[in-house]
Amino acid sequence: MLTFDTIVIGGGLAGYCAAIKSAQSGRKTALISQGEGSLHFASGSIDVLANDPKTQAPVRYPFEAIAQLAKAHPYRKVGVESTRDALDWFRQLVHAQGIHFHQLDAFQNHWRITPFGTLKATWMSQVFSVLLDDTTPHGFERVIVAGIDGFRDFQADVAAENIAQLEQFKGIPVKPVSIVLPDNQSDGMRAKRAIDYARALRDPLLYNALRDQLLRYATPRDLVILPCVFGNGDGQDYMARLQKETQLNFHEVPTMPPSLLGIRISDALHRAFTQAGGTLLKGDSVISANMEKHDSVWRVAGIHTQKMGDFPQKASEFVLASGSFFSRGLISTSDRIFEPVFGLDVTAPNHRDNWYSAKFLDAHLHQQWCSDQRQPPAFHSRSNCLQPSLYWGCAGWI
Ligand SMILES: Cc1cc2nc3c(=O)[nH]c(=O)nc-3n(C[C@H](O)[C@H](O)[C@H](O)COP(=O)(O)OP(=O)(O)OC[C@H]3O[C@@H](n4cnc5c(N)ncnc54)[C@H](O)[C@@H]3O)c2cc1C
Repeated sequence: MLTFDTIVIGGGLAGYCAAIKSAQSGRKTALISQGEGSLHFASGSIDVLANDPKTQAPVRYPFEAIAQLAKAHPYRKVGVESTRDALDWFRQLVHAQGIHFHQLDAFQNHWRITPFGTLKATWMSQVFSVLLDDTTPHGFERVIVAGIDGFRDFQADVAAENIAQLEQFKGIPVKPVSIVLPDNQSDGMRAKRAIDYARALRDPLLYNALRDQLLRYATPRDLVILPCVFGNGDGQDYMARLQKETQLNFHEVPTMPPSLLGIRISDALHRAFTQAGGTLLKGDSVISANMEKHDSVWRVAGIHTQKMGDFPQKASEFVLASGSFFSRGLISTSDRIFEPVFGLDVTAPNHRDNWYSAKFLDAHLHQQWCSDQRQPPAFHSRSNCLQPSLYWGCAGWI
């Protein structure tokens, strides 16, 4: 039997942050995670109330809008001050691990360019990105969208066609180009996913080929949109080197999963947790809990995992950060929605017709996005009020 001060269930953004805080405060902390969290699928930008939960309109001033949310909304429950403190803490934490963010200012969201060449509101983005808003001119002469020949997870033509229709790039030539890298079959290039390129581009032959072709296509007066293909712990170092050697302006876009921009954050959190002395139990699932009643209050006495079977893991505190449907923190069957470890109460619409949506990944109202909008509506002005909305589920990332 293992005994800890704190056991955190779930190794996504929320679980890692909770576990790092706990370990840094001197508590003996374990993090149990059955798999990678949604960061491996994420853009690598950190959203703060990017969209109005009710209307889906993008929100420009998220901290002002939090006060208008329904009382049950996680941001409202946590409060503006704690949300800001948590974001500051997170930013410093990953900065110390070599992942740097920037933003328009601490109060407003900006637009980031998605892999499809559409815009999405977000609060802070990794440093090799342009921060667009509705009014400030960006000053680029052209937009060069650089695809990599044979890389199926980023289509430069599609992105360029959509970018050309954005208000922000009106009247500016948007040109897709294709970078051809030397064949490197022995280095995993057959699979041609972002993670394979990250590995292969460590080879100076391939790196130089990428750099030299970019220099042929673009000048320092252009914006170069590049799929994120540098990662594995030192992605931003490689981008800094590429920028220094070419003097080009880069905007890294996430690719289809695995998304190196998100993986960079996940790796940074992993390093921070182990440096803080935490114990990582990866690849194991928490399947049930032992509950005991003390003075008419039920407490978790221990948890059982798939690998440890009958031997409970004990702690004085347990943190559930198992995410949503995507990570099986919530499960839906034909007749119910439930939380599988503790059987916690879940509030969900009664009728199952309302359990799903035509859009992929928008079960949580606070994390819906506007990928289907080529030109999103202008940001909400300061005076706009958000309507209360229904929030259901258990994931939160602060
Ligand atoms: C695909 C996707 C992309 C997103 N992109 C962005 C983005 O670009 N920017 C942004 O700001 N937000 C994004 N979000 C929203 C945001 O990432 C999530 O709200 C946040 O990362 C969720 O973190 P989490 O730790 O709560 O959950 P998750 O990241 O889902 O992590 C939950 C973890 O718990 C583990 N787990 C579940 N059940 C158990 C169990 N029984 N035992 C042990 N482990 C368990 C899972 O394996 C997983 O590791 C995205 C969400 C999704 C789903």
